[in-house]
Amino acid sequence: MGDKKLHVIVVGAGLAGLAIAHGLKKNNVSYVIVDREAAPRDRNWGVTLSWAHPLMEKLLPEDLYKSLQVCQPDPSLDTKAAGKECILIRDGATGETKVEAHFPGIRRMQIQKTKKAWAPGVNVKYGKRLVDISITAEGPTAHFEDGTSESGSVIIGADGGASQVRRWLLKDLAAQEVLPYAFMNFPFTLPAEKALWLDGVMNPNVDVATHPKNMYLGIFLLDKPDLTKPETWVFYILVTWPITTKEDEENSDNRLERLRAHMDGWADPYKSVVEWLPDDVVIKPDQLRIWHPKPWDNHGGLVTLAGDAAHSMTFHRGQGGNLSIKDAHEFVMKMVKVQRGEQSLQEAIKEYDEGAVARGQEVEISKAQTDAFHDYANFEESPVFKMGIKPAGT
Ligand SMILES: Cc1cc2nc3c(=O)[nH]c(=O)nc-3n(C[C@H](O)[C@H](O)[C@H](O)COP(=O)(O)OP(=O)(O)OC[C@H]3O[C@@H](n4cnc5c(N)ncnc54)[C@H](O)[C@@H]3O)c2cc1C
Repeated sequence: MGDKKLHVIVVGAGLAGLAIAHGLKKNNVSYVIVDREAAPRDRNWGVTLSWAHPLMEKLLPEDLYKSLQVCQPDPSLDTKAAGKECILIRDGATGETKVEAHFPGIRRMQIQKTKKAWAPGVNVKYGKRLVDISITAEGPTAHFEDGTSESGSVIIGADGGASQVRRWLLKDLAAQEVLPYAFMNFPFTLPAEKALWLDGVMNPNVDVATHPKNMYLGIFLLDKPDLTKPETWVFYILVTWPITTKEDEENSDNRLERLRAHMDGWADPYKSVVEWLPDDVVIKPDQLRIWHPKPWDNHGGLVTLAGDAAHSMTFHRGQGGNLSIKDAHEFVMKMVKVQRGEQSLQEAIKEYDEGAVARGQEVEISKAQTDAFHDYANFEESPVFKMGIKPAGT
């Protein structure tokens, strides 16, 4: 890098990329952040941040950190005061608690609200879809679909599970694995009385169940656009079961019908909620995809990965978002060292990469958790049962 000023190109303005950008800005490291989106996509979900919560405080500006409540599905919820600093796993056949894993400071964050709250402070360039990377003696350049480019000292791909930066680094080895489970993930609303009931009985962070039929179902709150009008509250369901039929394999369009056919023997709240779903509820096709990290050639410390781009995992142990924040924190700390002249960029990225790949062991642990949710008889052997939601290695 010689005497050239350190300048970071962050590709992707999701949880990982925005956390990196804020951390770099807070530490006066020069950066640019880009995202392919021209407008927010309609995909939305919630993330339970537990052990990575203190790291957000280090990365975000004080005022943003103090206002994180606005990112919650229910901005009025104080989980501590409500005695709900935990996640809940039930027996789907009885509704009884199987696991209640506690975590002080745990917070549910809705992904679109989070992007909306975090983006303004970091001046994201939108409509920039990365299509290629080139490297010269001057350093790496990111090339975008619109014909523009950004040059800097290092590119960090925080561009999600199907990462283009990862594909540039690893070619075919970057391909995701599709797991053999039917997967549905869809939002819905309910009449006021039913929405109030559900909100009262469900755990606000995570309320999921494993069923003797070897099936997983979770109900989550996505948004309360008007706190006084429960009929506006948006919930969503995540449901998975092993693919055994041709219809499941082809992921045919009769998804609600297929879900309802799986609901005999379920207890409340899951049973009633699926019964109450409107017949025209939209359930889009989806797949469970993961990517196990394989060490990549960082071209002498010029290109690296973070978040789902570096390790994409199933949601069944709730670790992907936490690891995105951990990657962001590790990367920012390394860049601070490089800027201070305490470490070369090459050495810093080498060490960062080793950590990111090691953190990727969680992909296998989360996959084991996915399998365990579909193996009711042996659920007590599962990672969540044994480790709760603590990070691997602690
Ligand atoms: C249903 C569900 C539930 C989950 N629950 C939890 C949970 O409880 N706890 C937890 O810790 N984690 C959870 N996760 C995982 C967590 O959401 C992810 O790990 C985390 O959001 C990943 O963030 P990211 O920034 O790496 O990727 P993303 O959020 O995917 O962001 C990537 C960004 O890169 C942009 N991009 C993509 N390609 C390009 C390109 N070529 N050029 C430019 N920009 C590009 C995209 O537009 C996007 O904005 C859950 C995930 C899902 C889907």
